[in-house]
Amino acid sequence: MSAFPLRQVVIAGGSIAAVTAAQNLRAQGFEGDITLLSEEIHAPYSRVPLSKGVLSGKETPDLAALPALGEDITVRPGARAAHLRPEDRRVILADGEEVPYDGLAIATGAHARRLAIPGRTGEHVVRTLDDATALGDRIGAADSVLVVGGGFLGMEVASTCAELGLTVTVVDRDPPLRRLLGAWLADLVVDAARDRGVRFVQAPNGVGLVGHPEITGVDCGDRQLNADVVVSAVGDLPNTEWLADSGLPLDGGLVVDPRCRVTPHIVAAGDVTVTRRNGAGARRSPHWTSAVLQGQAAARTLLHGETAPVPPPDPYYWTEQFGLDIKISGEIPAGTVPTVLAGDPRQRSTLLQWHHQGRPVAAVSVNHRIPIVKLKKLGAHAPATT
Ligand SMILES: Cc1cc2nc3c(=O)[nH]c(=O)nc-3n(C[C@H](O)[C@H](O)[C@H](O)COP(=O)(O)OP(=O)(O)OC[C@H]3O[C@@H](n4cnc5c(N)ncnc54)[C@H](O)[C@@H]3O)c2cc1C
Repeated sequence: MSAFPLRQVVIAGGSIAAVTAAQNLRAQGFEGDITLLSEEIHAPYSRVPLSKGVLSGKETPDLAALPALGEDITVRPGARAAHLRPEDRRVILADGEEVPYDGLAIATGAHARRLAIPGRTGEHVVRTLDDATALGDRIGAADSVLVVGGGFLGMEVASTCAELGLTVTVVDRDPPLRRLLGAWLADLVVDAARDRGVRFVQAPNGVGLVGHPEITGVDCGDRQLNADVVVSAVGDLPNTEWLADSGLPLDGGLVVDPRCRVTPHIVAAGDVTVTRRNGAGARRSPHWTSAVLQGQAAARTLLHGETAPVPPPDPYYWTEQFGLDIKISGEIPAGTVPTVLAGDPRQRSTLLQWHHQGRPVAAVSVNHRIPIVKLKKLGAHAPATT
């Protein structure tokens, strides 16, 4: 049981981590009030299809909606948390309203990092449903797109635009995806992208946006690239501004312990968080599965405090791009060649395993059907218990 009377839980945030925390509080028998404060006006939705089916127009935005919460949970759209006063357990909304709580779950996620100074137009990002809709409208009337950033998001946007028949250029400081997938697998994906006509430009010193009044391209130092549409996919920043004067531990995100606890009355989950496991520096895991597992853990910790189980690490995520359905368990060591367990990488359908110091550390399926539990075992991670 909670170490303090828990009658009123407030959840700041309105996406998968927040919704999961709310559902799990109820599933574990919590009968008090639950209020979700969500900045956006839309009902809770998933971001995963925004760069894929929603952007391509194959999926309507309503298909991104998360399952509706029960009527015994109050969802307040358009309610932006602006400050937190932990000492008297109150969230202060942007309009000044004070919302009291016994237990608070912080799940305010992250926002897209931008390159342009505020007020400049023409730099698209893909973080919210409105972003995806606005970009979808623009690319519908365009012939070319320039994507700044060759991480998962940038490559997914590039893939969708290539599928729609646009001329696509991806520009990045580094070779695309290498930091995330290692050189061997990144090259496999980049080859698939090139086969679909995507052009890659490396700008080791970074890029500056150009165009007036609207942004129309980038300056790479040695050349300028222009396109009808410019999309930045240069990372995301945890939404912690509203916590700046709260006294909560911030270190590139809100610091949580392995049980997702921040203070005895406050837990946090999802993209807003950073963890410090095994004495390592603060690390983020901005993926869907982490947000779900942390949402579950945060609910358990609010209810059971120190007696809540510590969830095992479960680094699992996926991406879909250039006709490749890629599922990843574990951390792919840089510069290492994987063992091919099944299929044929040349056919872009394969099951791969990486080792480090003789032990398996990661497994990846590329267009290869395998139960996720089995993939996680190959990646040396036991499936999380929920
Ligand atoms: C386009 C896109 C595609 C993705 N695809 C994949 C994928 O294929 N696979 C994968 O594993 N992961 C993917 N991800 C990552 C995954 O979607 C995120 O990890 C997940 O959304 C994190 O959920 P969250 O609830 O922590 O945060 P968020 O989804 O960022 O939600 C935060 C919520 O908090 C609200 N909020 C923010 N500030 C405040 C405030 N001050 N007051 C009140 N409410 C606030 C926001 O409006 C939002 O509702 C993708 C992400 C994006 C953007």
